[in-house]
Amino acid sequence: MWGDYVVRAKVPLAPFTTWKVGGSARWYAEPDPYELPGLLAKAFAQGIPVYYLGRGSNLLVDDDGIDGLVVHCWKSMCSIRRLAENCVEAEAGVPLPKLSRFVADLGCSGYEFLIGIPGTVGGGVVINAGLRSPLRREISDVILEADIVEPDGSLRTLSKEEIGLRYRHSSIINTGSFILRARFTLDDFESGAEHIRRRTAHHLQERRQKQPLNRSTAGSTFKQVRAGPATGWYIEKSGLKGCRVGGAVVSQKHANWIETSPGATAADVRNLIATVEAEVFSRFGVRLVREVGYLPQDLVFRA
Ligand SMILES: Cc1cc2nc3c(=O)[nH]c(=O)nc-3n(C[C@H](O)[C@H](O)[C@H](O)COP(=O)(O)OP(=O)(O)OC[C@H]3O[C@@H](n4cnc5c(N)ncnc54)[C@H](O)[C@@H]3O)c2cc1C
Repeated sequence: MWGDYVVRAKVPLAPFTTWKVGGSARWYAEPDPYELPGLLAKAFAQGIPVYYLGRGSNLLVDDDGIDGLVVHCWKSMCSIRRLAENCVEAEAGVPLPKLSRFVADLGCSGYEFLIGIPGTVGGGVVINAGLRSPLRREISDVILEADIVEPDGSLRTLSKEEIGLRYRHSSIINTGSFILRARFTLDDFESGAEHIRRRTAHHLQERRQKQPLNRSTAGSTFKQVRAGPATGWYIEKSGLKGCRVGGAVVSQKHANWIETSPGATAADVRNLIATVEAEVFSRFGVRLVREVGYLPQDLVFRA
């Protein structure tokens, strides 16, 4: 069925996610950038849906698992290099904090915002990872272009405009296209090493104060509400801090974060998310929009 490609069956996915919940992949592969196009073409030809996993820090895998092929790139696509004086290129599996440190070591500022985001370049580009405050920076501020593999195995380079980056969204997410690598601009060599060090340390310290970084979470559960107070404010004012469903609980430290404990299920997380949505709507008339993705439900592409 898979020819020469190394594809394993029934691989548990929970350990590959930061919430540490969810079922298994029917098929699972860690292809390198050269194998990936052929593997996708093979799945496409057989009508097998394909799902992508980076660090699993922005998604919830269903308890029933995934009836398709899961492509995981966190170990097999990890090369990063300076391509030119003002350009760095990183493969899909490069951790965002590694990209931040790589650029800092070149003496370039502007990537400090990535130091505390535990995702990969692939996952970061498709959801335009970043911060609204205090550093106010997103992937869209630094990306130049990306090489993608289409579901049928064909390769394309997309400009920043074609990637269509918006707040926690892109034209690529859940379409079946895979971000193979991306190129980023290097433009601030003036600020200096001390400035970079201070910004990085300050940012990490702020995160430790405000976010439950020693718990199993997926960062912000919901996107920021367009106008008005922060999303966490609505959740907190609805009295939901500490609200629990099974092994999932709304964090006491940051109301927009959900923590899981050992034994939690994806159903616990989903039910808690539904409870938060319903409570905030009934109290404030505000419809929260999920930032975390549901796998497999959110995939819009079908072979
Ligand atoms: C402690 C913590 C702090 C966080 N802080 C922030 C923050 O400050 N800002 C922020 O924006 N996010 C934050 N997040 C969320 C998360 O880290 C980011 O959204 C990150 O970009 C997700 O990357 P990932 O590799 O984990 O993607 P995953 O969760 O593995 O996947 C996310 C989506 O991208 C798709 N995908 C993954 N790789 C590829 C690829 N190569 N090609 C195509 N599609 C792909 C997946 O199918 C899925 O739809 C935080 C999470 C945690 C746990």
